[in-house]
Amino acid sequence: MSDCIFCKIINREIPSEVVYEDERVLAFKDINPVAPVHVLIIPKKHSESLNDLNPEDEALVGHLVIVATQLAEELGIADSGYRLVNNCGDDGGQVVKHLHFHLIGGKRLGIHIC
Ligand code: AMP
Ligand code: ZN
Repeated sequence: MSDCIFCKIINREIPSEVVYEDERVLAFKDINPVAPVHVLIIPKKHSESLNDLNPEDEALVGHLVIVATQLAEELGIADSGYRLVNNCGDDGGQVVKHLHFHLIGGKRLGIHIC
């Protein structure tokens, strides 16, 4: 997707602070963090949202979540706790239309989810 900002981050056309990378996944610091730890975890394969996933993406989604838990450990928030968030579509608050999970922690988060 040539006009996708996260694809450009994957291709290093736009700079980012990468915290993890493998053949399927990239994780980088959110440019506008809402907490001391705020990392975005994205698949390298462009999918617009959770709605775009197919049964064959099951392993990829599992991998994204496992990477998130490993990053939580590495970034020191596994024990204190964190939130792993996906915003899907306009009503879900999704701004960037490349599937991503927010890993947020390092402070006591509000209890409101809507
Ligand atoms: P969402 O509302 O779930 O689509 O979240 C998109 C997130 O991407 C927001 O938290 C933004 O701060 C973040 N973001 C947008 N552009 C960049 C960028 N160039 N580098 C890092 N994070 C970004
Ligand atoms: Zn993309």
